[in-house]
Amino acid sequence: MKDEQQLLDKQQQKAGVSRRNFLKTVTGTAAGIGISQMFNPALVKALEKALETHPVIWIQGQGCTGCSVSLLNTAEPSIADVLLKVISLQFHPTVMASEGATALENMYKIAEAYKGKFSLAIEGAIPTAADGKYCIVGELHHKEITMVDVVKDLGAKAGSVLSIGTCAAYGGIPAAEGNVTGATGVMDFFKANGIKTPTVNLPGCPPHPDWIVGSIAHLLTKGVPELDENGRPVVFYGENIHDNCPRLEEYDAGELSGKLSDAKGCRMDLGCKGPDTYADCYKRKWNSSMNWCVDNAVCIGCVEPGFPDASSPFYEPA
Ligand code: SF4
Ligand code: SF4
Repeated sequence: MKDEQQLLDKQQQKAGVSRRNFLKTVTGTAAGIGISQMFNPALVKALEKALETHPVIWIQGQGCTGCSVSLLNTAEPSIADVLLKVISLQFHPTVMASEGATALENMYKIAEAYKGKFSLAIEGAIPTAADGKYCIVGELHHKEITMVDVVKDLGAKAGSVLSIGTCAAYGGIPAAEGNVTGATGVMDFFKANGIKTPTVNLPGCPPHPDWIVGSIAHLLTKGVPELDENGRPVVFYGENIHDNCPRLEEYDAGELSGKLSDAKGCRMDLGCKGPDTYADCYKRKWNSSMNWCVDNAVCIGCVEPGFPDASSPFYEPA
């Protein structure tokens, strides 16, 4: 066993991934998942295998690319290691060097070659009005390809789908009041088009990089994780922010912050939506575990299906 560990350590070092750091990230995920096997070196092997057999195609619709930026901020393992050694990312409009018809042709080729096996990551909402013309993702053989076309085609061919961010999961900001583009989330789009591919929602505006990397690692090695009624992995979205907030004692004592710069006090009067929000931000924290919304402002409930309308105005009590 010791020899096997040493060998794996050497392999990981050679591959540029610190095994300790790599497992820290995934076991950080696993600690919540409660999958003790995640501590096992077999996970590393399983991911190596998945790298060859289970590509990921990432498409972008109606969004701000913030979810991709969040993924790029993943610290351990580094984004280079995630993209090259954890996820076999075959198509990503922002990250890849290829573009135009060549890139699109390659995307369709991968989808065909790995039909029923590849994972489709969808970032951004899908604008369904005007025959999908609000979001043209490319052109092939002098024909415009819309986000609607790609999601219908690849969504049905994929083995699993990840809706990355609140726009993809539930419509998010593009589907907010005044929505003229017919923006819709993946779940509703699939229902309307009879697509039954298993789908995991990873809402957040943006979602935490650990939620993305951890869910993809789980999908590749163990399949679809346990989901809540809104299609979110329970491991990341199973806890109520308010019930676990470090300021709960202050809330119970009636000590409320009067302004955002107050270091102490519950943010309820400033508009905190923690009581209606389910995510593990309070313990995972953001920016490499430096801080989180309630430290600096308020929770705006960005992971919930009604966001942003249900949370607005952000800085007024619910
Ligand atoms: S700051 Fe927000 S989440 Fe924390 S105790 Fe107050 S209302 Fe609840
Ligand atoms: S604390 Fe609230 S607003 Fe901030 S990321 Fe988490 S769920 Fe979204």
